[in-house]
Amino acid sequence: MTFAEKIAEPRKLFIDGKWIEPESARYFATVNPATEEAITQVPQAGERETDLAVAAARRAFEQGPWAAMKPAERGKKIFRIAEVVEQQAEELALVESLDTGKPLSFTRTRDVPFAVDLLRYYAGWANKFYGATLPTDESALACTLREPVGVVAIITPWNSPLILSLMKIAPALAMGNTLIHKPASWTPLSALKFAEICQAAGLPEGVYNVVTGPGDSVGTRLVTHPDVNKVSFTGETVTGKIIMEKAAATLKRISLELGGKSPHIVFADGDLEAAATFAAKGFCLNQGQICWAGSRVFVEEKVHDEFLEKLLRHVREDWTVGDPMDPKTQMGPLISKTQLQQVTGYIEEGKKEGAKLILGGDRPPMKKGYYLNPTVFDEVDNRMKLAREEIFGPVLAIIPFKEFDEVIEKANDTFYGLASGLWTKDMKKAYRAARRLKAGSVWVNCYGALDVMAPFGGFKQSGFGREFGQEVLPLYTETKTVWFQM
Ligand code: NAD
Repeated sequence: MTFAEKIAEPRKLFIDGKWIEPESARYFATVNPATEEAITQVPQAGERETDLAVAAARRAFEQGPWAAMKPAERGKKIFRIAEVVEQQAEELALVESLDTGKPLSFTRTRDVPFAVDLLRYYAGWANKFYGATLPTDESALACTLREPVGVVAIITPWNSPLILSLMKIAPALAMGNTLIHKPASWTPLSALKFAEICQAAGLPEGVYNVVTGPGDSVGTRLVTHPDVNKVSFTGETVTGKIIMEKAAATLKRISLELGGKSPHIVFADGDLEAAATFAAKGFCLNQGQICWAGSRVFVEEKVHDEFLEKLLRHVREDWTVGDPMDPKTQMGPLISKTQLQQVTGYIEEGKKEGAKLILGGDRPPMKKGYYLNPTVFDEVDNRMKLAREEIFGPVLAIIPFKEFDEVIEKANDTFYGLASGLWTKDMKKAYRAARRLKAGSVWVNCYGALDVMAPFGGFKQSGFGREFGQEVLPLYTETKTVWFQM
């Protein structure tokens, strides 16, 4: 079968190690945002299939080999999955690009290799995260065990589906949990491809299940299901709040990675050329559809004009909009027509609010696809909608400032707290700012640095819990204390 034939094949649900069709026989199309054409049909799971997936995960957890096996063996299985991902890297990169509109040059060099890193990093942790012996007297022995939480529902967004899923799946598997994954309906294909990979790598049945379908039915069912122990969610803040409320009825453990409106501060003594490069990347990468996008750039007034000249040059030179399959492309289309309308709505609103449009705001001349040119507004007031709401598109707000205290206050004046960045050669000032910024990440003289070992997550309404590194491991385990009376 050629790749074109294979990708057009209607998909099935992956439950208990088997591919099954939904009883309702209902399917929905997943669309290539670069062509506006359906790639294929994906099943719409109903309550029945969602419950089957939960039951399979529960069985695999209680009776299967996964939770009980030697952690080092579990690690080996995850290493094996990483190997199969590498063997099928090209197909996975293509699937991810077609489904999301991300440039293929990025999915090849960034998304798939990062997914492999995540799998290998957490495979290594499988037998390295454990409890302790407690300092009792000799009448007793007390120790703690780190046990898996149980059945974990993983609910993921569309903006970087493969990576955002693997950053949950890899540690959850390593700690011995069994999973039900509900990917976003706009981008379900990499999760289904990953299920194929898990099957080929010999992951035991029922350990990883995929149910596709709408958030308000399939997602809600998972969040309210009494047999699901934990929900690990990445998505919008508003959805996170709904999930938190619904999960309360069964007191599920929850991790929430939510939205952002991250400040990126350019002090006058910073390296302006480098700052401009990263400020451009901060709102153009993945068409601005990134939770940590540096969508508010605060520029010290004395270097405002010089910085802006450099920024606009970098946007024009470094961020070519085009077909995701073309190796020259740096920016593909937005994910959907709805998203495009939403982002252009913000642009219109920005003009009405009195911000000064200095670049873009329009669409490139492609006949098809949800493309939008990178857009920069200057003279934005931090109280404008442009500066307050997560736009999730390639739209940047430039906000001039005069004083250190003023900019820190404005940077923190948001209900989000995901990320932040700053540029200065004065390390005392950098440290002072880093201490005062209320955000889960502070990038000093860089922006968007991420690594499997470095915790990432939100303050305030950007969520709680962390992804990456060692810090995520307690979130997929329960601590049990065992006393032996001698
Ligand atoms: P979304 O909240 O609309 O959807 C995310 C997932 O939740 C999807 O799978 C969706 O089907 C499901 N869902 C929707 N309603 C649900 C409900 N009531 N119950 C259970 N599940 C439900 O988000 P999105 O539009 O897919 O993604 C974009 C958002 O994700 C942005 O706000 C972005 O900042 C955020 N995000 C955050 C991070 C982070 O690490 N903090 C990373 C990437 C994206």
